[in-house]
Amino acid sequence: MPRTRIHNVSAAQWSANGDALGTRDLTELTNESFGANVFSAAEQRKRLPKHVYSQLRATVARGEELDTSLADMVAQAMKDWALEKGATHYTHWFQPLTGLTAEKHDSFYMPAGDGTAIADFSGKELIQGEPDASSFPTGGIRATFEARGYTAWDPTSPAFLLENPNGALLCIPTAFASWTGEALDHKIPLLRSMDALSSAAIRALRLLGEQAPQRVFTTVGPEQEYFLIDEQYYFERPDLVTCGRTLFGAKPPKGHELDDHYFGSIPERILAYMLETELELGKLGVPVKTRHNEVAPNQYEIAPVFEGTNIGCDHQMLTMQVMQNVARKYGLVCLLHEKPFAGVNGSGKHNNWSMSTDAGENLLEPGDTPHENLSFLFFAGAVIEAVDSYQELLRASIASPGQDFRLGANEAPPAIISIFLGEELERIFGAIAEGKTSPSKPGSFLGLGTPVLPQLPLHSGDRNRTSPFAFTGNKFEFRALGSSMSPAWPNTVLNTIVAETIDRLSGELEAQLKGGATLERAILAIVKDSYAKHSRIVFAGDGYSEEWHAEAARRGLANLRSTTEALPWLVEDATVKLFEKHKVLSKRELEARYEVASEQYTTTVNIEAETAASIARTLVLPAALRHLALVKEAGVERLVAETQELVESLVAAIGELERANSSHPHVEGLEHAKYMRDTVLPAMGAVREVADKLERIIADDLWPLPKYSEMLFIK
Ligand code: ADP
Ligand code: MG
Repeated sequence: MPRTRIHNVSAAQWSANGDALGTRDLTELTNESFGANVFSAAEQRKRLPKHVYSQLRATVARGEELDTSLADMVAQAMKDWALEKGATHYTHWFQPLTGLTAEKHDSFYMPAGDGTAIADFSGKELIQGEPDASSFPTGGIRATFEARGYTAWDPTSPAFLLENPNGALLCIPTAFASWTGEALDHKIPLLRSMDALSSAAIRALRLLGEQAPQRVFTTVGPEQEYFLIDEQYYFERPDLVTCGRTLFGAKPPKGHELDDHYFGSIPERILAYMLETELELGKLGVPVKTRHNEVAPNQYEIAPVFEGTNIGCDHQMLTMQVMQNVARKYGLVCLLHEKPFAGVNGSGKHNNWSMSTDAGENLLEPGDTPHENLSFLFFAGAVIEAVDSYQELLRASIASPGQDFRLGANEAPPAIISIFLGEELERIFGAIAEGKTSPSKPGSFLGLGTPVLPQLPLHSGDRNRTSPFAFTGNKFEFRALGSSMSPAWPNTVLNTIVAETIDRLSGELEAQLKGGATLERAILAIVKDSYAKHSRIVFAGDGYSEEWHAEAARRGLANLRSTTEALPWLVEDATVKLFEKHKVLSKRELEARYEVASEQYTTTVNIEAETAASIARTLVLPAALRHLALVKEAGVERLVAETQELVESLVAAIGELERANSSHPHVEGLEHAKYMRDTVLPAMGAVREVADKLERIIADDLWPLPKYSEMLFIK
């Protein structure tokens, strides 16, 4: 049998392992498992003394400092709960600058000295850990010889249990810092940015006449795109195994042109996978809501109900982990890379984002009374100003090597940051900026010529799929995140820049009110001024089009095409000033992040280049040579000439790649990354181009790698 058929046949032979589908009746009480593996508020209330419980909740609700003397009681309750559920070990679960999560397991059990063991877990062990963390990226913050790093309990994100057939692990979400107290992770700046935004928003709400809210939370609901392919193919592709993306592969005859996959019915095996993933996530308290097929073949999406940003980001990391774990049970591999298949749509993460008071009032809900509208205009205006003022930083927050293959391609937002407001909102802001009456649609708005405020549309129906930052009814959707990235860093940036503009606008509001202006007049004046300056960021047309690139350049919007162009914005003066003012990151901490990101870029491309060279030399070239011998033996001159020419091009291209990647110039950091981008990546591209041509002519039984036409269509 030809190779492709052997593989397809065996991959397609998958059958449900374990339970048959549909055996679990979730309406039965005993089967309701949502949050079963979370040390939730309900569980805490059951197990903690009243005063301990209420202090813990105050910490969570209002960001109040936790009295560490209570930690012993929390630890005891947490341990009892975990042991009852079969846990044997615990870990401080954290998010170092690798962008992944990290864990080091410790047993609960201590030898008792009499040949037995007792379970022990103290408040100290709950609050602080000291992983031997010398190998995490620090960007120079911590020298290896003094490699102490500390993890510190984050009581605002509940502990949870990860199950394994052979035991369970108690995971305690923690922050990770150097012994000097500098942030080495993604959680610390996120929490600091949430504090900054809360202070700024509370100040604004007071000026707006709202006395009740004590804290404002940012919320996030990330939609996650991913691919599923049969593991049979995955393990035969060294590029997928090592790099998470294919470095070779000719475009298949069929892609997504027929749009037959998007929102299509979900094949049984995939649905079985999704159901189990959702069940597992449900136990961890991740509120998964939506699933559907995405645009590319074998591409899917999962989305939760939104939550507070800290928990939402922790849950995102868990979601990616569970998705990958469960896939293996179904003979699948879940690919989270931004661009696993060249020429096929890549994967992103849509970061739905809003701000909410502690009473649950969404500050980006347009509402339908003038008072709510005032507040909405103020906060939405602040977001618009923030995105325009810090567009480069926002772009830098989503930069990664994988993103470079996606942003600005024919499927993902361009590298230019712009905002889609929707027709009606754009008209309202435009009218305010011009001090004119809104040309209202019948019945939809009041005029703006008087201080009588407009009835804002509850949900403006139009959509723009090409916008990187879109208003969608009562939230903004930052659509340019990469599928594999932690949402914590982009959210940190978003929170911080919005905190800054809310603060700036509040200063103006305060001054105007002191000067005797009414709230209405003051807010209209402030929004008018701000929008007039920042409306260049608003764009409703096709973000993929050539015209937009020209128009954006005319408007003076940044177009940072690649990671190496974007990263310097992490350490721009304006960024440092902003982050220091709001106490989110110090200059040194920002520089560390910049250094880590530059190095990660270089390392990633280097690994890819070595993998590409090795695949080309040890898999593709031998296949090409065998094929050449075959056509020579057959004596068909045209085929000999065609093959020979490609083989020679391949040998030359491999030589170029090996040379480019073995003689890096003596430069570091960003300069090194630029060399990788400008010299090594193109050399990889050249090897691929010839190899992909060879794939189309070499005998199928000689071709060593599963093809796109196989990987993308077997479900
Ligand atoms: P769509 O993007 O297709 O309009 P939805 O309206 O269902 O989809 O919302 C998409 C995501 O936005 C969901 O994950 C949802 O939880 C999230 N979301 C909704 N409201 C908010 C909010 N106030 N803050 C953050 N995320 C939100
Ligand atoms: Mg959406």
